[in-house]
Amino acid sequence: MSSRRSRSGPTLNFKAVLLGEGCVGKTSLVLRYMEDKFNPQHLSTLQASFVTKKVTLPDERRAQLNIWDTAGQERFHALGPIYYRGSDGALLVYDITDHDSFQKVKSWVRELKQMRGTEISLIIVGNKTDLEEQRAISYADAFHYAQTVGALYLEASAKENEGVAEIFELLTHLMLERLSQRERETEPASPLRLQALDADDAVSVSDGEQSDGTGTG
Ligand code: GDP
Repeated sequence: MSSRRSRSGPTLNFKAVLLGEGCVGKTSLVLRYMEDKFNPQHLSTLQASFVTKKVTLPDERRAQLNIWDTAGQERFHALGPIYYRGSDGALLVYDITDHDSFQKVKSWVRELKQMRGTEISLIIVGNKTDLEEQRAISYADAFHYAQTVGALYLEASAKENEGVAEIFELLTHLMLERLSQRERETEPASPLRLQALDADDAVSVSDGEQSDGTGTG
């Protein structure tokens, strides 16, 4: 689990991964958000790397956002699920001028859904809105697709610094909401029940009730 509280106060740790084809602007979005910089060159991410950003949430709680960035698709497949294991959120980035990169987002969504189910918050990001005249995917189409897979949709330009902070703020917000929900869901569970869930062959759940006929005495 990637969320924990420190002794010095409630510090929440979130892991977010960036996914998307090479050159869609993943690293540029991070660079813009972290350092308010833009580099017109392709910032080849030679290996998975991560940056952290400390944020203070509206309720005064502190959170640390760990953002994992990786190179293109081949490398991601080489890294496999290790890359997104334990992640609370994912930014699936494509380039609004590049139809193929949008298709690639769809395959990441399928993979994440398969591997992480509903455990992960998803935001699809259409980057490079400054290239509006070359747009290949309409806002409406991308928005509609995101809705059908339970993801949110945002557009941005790392180059023009439009919509970038909003992406990371929304992601943090979504991951926090999910955490609160998880906390609410786990609270009522008694230690006894949890123990029974941990041990598959433990037959006494509570009050002597047995869930299946495995009681061999
Ligand atoms: P990554 O491989 O997905 O991490 O992509 P990069 O961040 O390295 O960006 C690939 C190329 O797209 C670089 O030349 C960037 O300067 C350019 N780029 C990134 N974001 C934008 C943007 O918002 N608008 C434009 N016009 N170019 C961008």
